[in-house]
Order: sequence, then structure tokens, then C-alpha cells
Amino acid sequence: MINALRGMKDLLENDGKLYKFIIDTCEKVVKNYGYEFCEVPKLEETALFKRSVGQSSDIVGKEMYQFIDKGGNDVCLRPEGTAGVVRAFIENKFDRAGGVRRYFYHGSMFRYERPQRGRLREFHQFGVECFGEASVYEDASVILMLNEILNTLGIKTTLKINSLGDTQCMPIYKDKLIKFVQNNTENLCQDCLRRLQTNPIRILDCKNENCQNILQNAPLITDNLNQICNDDFNKLQEILKANQVDFQIDPKLVRGLDYYCKTAFEFVSNDIGSQSAVAGGGRYDKLCEYLGGKSTPAVGWAMGIERIMEILRQQQKETKRQGIYICALNSNLIDEIYKIGKMLRKNYKTEISYEAKSPNKHLNIADKKGFEIFLCLGEDEFSQNQIWYKNLNNKDEKRISIANLESEI
Ligand code: ATP
Ligand code: MG
Repeated sequence: MINALRGMKDLLENDGKLYKFIIDTCEKVVKNYGYEFCEVPKLEETALFKRSVGQSSDIVGKEMYQFIDKGGNDVCLRPEGTAGVVRAFIENKFDRAGGVRRYFYHGSMFRYERPQRGRLREFHQFGVECFGEASVYEDASVILMLNEILNTLGIKTTLKINSLGDTQCMPIYKDKLIKFVQNNTENLCQDCLRRLQTNPIRILDCKNENCQNILQNAPLITDNLNQICNDDFNKLQEILKANQVDFQIDPKLVRGLDYYCKTAFEFVSNDIGSQSAVAGGGRYDKLCEYLGGKSTPAVGWAMGIERIMEILRQQQKETKRQGIYICALNSNLIDEIYKIGKMLRKNYKTEISYEAKSPNKHLNIADKKGFEIFLCLGEDEFSQNQIWYKNLNNKDEKRISIANLESEI
């Protein structure tokens, strides 16, 4: 028997439906903002990712599905979508043509990570990239667009934003940060000691507690922006506020990829454990030039479909509950609940249990079978013409009078 590889999952049945539903929802929203579908290869030269995602990033440092093909080429399964789309944009000479181009894509990404909840080796992203627009209005638009998608899907998230400055103010800030951290190197983790050499900014989002303690009084990029970056960052906040989009400023949000400047953002959810980022993105004005094209401002984001699916699956579980499960603790009460159950059946899906069991055993069955309302009759309740009621959606529980049963539930 051959199984799927570790960290790779099939999208069948409900998962297939959810996947399609998410993609359809995203497409509908982004098309109204002028984004058009594009598809680029999933296998590219390794050099593309090394150069664009950055040698110092976790992705290039440890997560690449890299191999030598039969022709001796050093190739890599794409770990993210932006690099390939930028390569295609330049290769097709759209950088020379000028104008604004907006693309969306979706499909598999590959990262050799330790598989766990919310972390797969093959996962799927829906992403957008806008080329040729330097205005901060576009930064705001891509955030509004993502916010609209998440709202349409019914997903509650927190938006975190930051500005990473530009090629003028970032290096000055970087020096300040390095000076600050160099006074504390004895408590830095191994990864951050390496980051100090390769990409000191990444120290800011280290998960290690010691490193975070050191950073408590570190200089913040948001206090060190030049006039242009500061104005843009303020304008971004103004537009978000005017559109009733709540956000938190997180000066330590630097994201996993090396190529961002100015706007960086992330939407996080409390509903999926520690792998909480559902989508992230930002501006990357220097990447085109860096990959050999004509300098072109650009901004985009990518959303992790599996993490969205996990949230929707939980919501389905909650909202799908329906019907009434009615049971008794003693066998002499079965006649009673049979009468009540028959009455309820006229209007509701009702399951009557004919077997007397402990309340916990009954509750387990009702829960597993996805009932919404649990009614349980014991001697005590019966003597007072009442029955025990529990709503398995909101966990509300109380005794209710049998006479008013229908109006109470
Ligand atoms: P994380 O901090 O969780 O590792 P990341 O910064 O590596 O995320 P990005 O490169 O920004 O993530 O990718 C965008 C989105 O893709 C993430 O917000 C997340 O929803 C999803 N994602 C990233 N890595 C994985 C993975 N291994 N499995 C499933 N989804 C992933
Ligand atoms: Mg990651």
C-alpha cells in the first residue's frame, strides 16, 4: 500500500468543496478590483528563490524542495508565488511596457517544514500581485480586498500592519538595531546570532523568549521612518480607518520574506492554534530590479487556503448542529420521553433514546451525532414537571418546564 508523502494531503469530499468555495469567493472579490488570473510553473530554477526570497530567510535556509533534475539543472518546487510571477512579468517584458498590471493565482506551494496542525509540506495559496502602482492607495486596496474576502467567508481575524521603510531609512534603522543588539549578544539564540550577520531585521520576529526580552527596549522602525515612508504609513492608516477596517500597528512585524519595503501586513486568527497567520503581504518595490528587470513598484499578498479551511471546518461543525436528542436516566421514564419526543417530532427532527444511561453517556452520543439540543429526564426533574435542557452550540443549560417545552426551545 502506497500512501501520500508526509505533510501532503488530499483534498477530497468536504475538503474539495471547501477549497473550491474559498477560491470562488476570492476570485469574485479580486476580479472587481481588476485582478486577472495567471498561472506560472511550479518548478523554477533554484536561483530564482535564493535571490528573491533571500538567502537569510527560513524558506531558503531550511525549507526548500530543491533537487538536481536529469539534465543537471538546480531546480526547486516553488515555496511561494511572488518570485515566479515577478520572473514571468519580467520575462514577458511587461516591465518595459509600463502601465499597471494586476494578477491573481492559486495553487500548490512546497516547503520542507515539520508537518503539524496548520503546517503542511504541500499547501495551497491564493495570492495577488499588482505591478506598476506606487501609490499607497493600492496598498490600502489590496488590504481592503483581503479584508472583504475574509468577511465574506465569515472569518474573524486581526489585521497587523507595519512599515519597513525604504532603501534610505531602513539601512539607518538597521545600524541602530545592530548596535542595540550587539550589546546583548550573550542572550541571543543561535538563529538570531546568525541573523545578526545575514539579516538583523529578522531578529525582531524571533519567537524565542530570551530574544524578545532583549528586544523590549529596542529601537523601532516605526520611529525611524523618513518623511515619505512616514507619510505613506499615515495615509494607509487613514484609508483603513475611513473604511472601518480595524488594525494594530506591530513594529516587529517583518514577515518571513526578505523583499518587502514600506507596507507589510498580516491577518491572524485566534481559531487555529499557534499557526495563526492566515494571510500576509506587503510592498516589494525593489524586487523587479533585483531580478534583472526594470525598476517597477509592486504590492501583493498570499493567503493560506488550508488555514482558512480549518477555520471554516470548525464553523461548519458549529453551525451544522441540528435537531433534538431526548433521553432519560431511568427506564421507568422512557414512556414519558417517548410521549414528549413524539410531540416534538411534529415540528423538529427528534431522536428518542430508548435506553436509560448516565447523563454523560447520553451527552456524548448527542454531541457525536451533531444534535443541537439535548433534553434529559431524571426522577428529580420529572417530579417537578421539568426536563434538563442543554444547547450544544452555545453550551447554555437549564431546567425547563415540560409544559412550555416548545416555546422554551
Ligand atoms: P508562518 O509564520 O506560519 O510560517 P509564513 O510567514 O511562512 O507563515 P507566508 O510565506 O507569508 O507564511 O505565506 C502566506 C500564508 O501561507 C501564511 O499566512 C499561511 O497561511 C500559509 N502558509 C505558510 N506556510 C504554510 C505551511 N507550511 N502550511 C500551510 N500553510 C502555510
Ligand atoms: Mg513559515
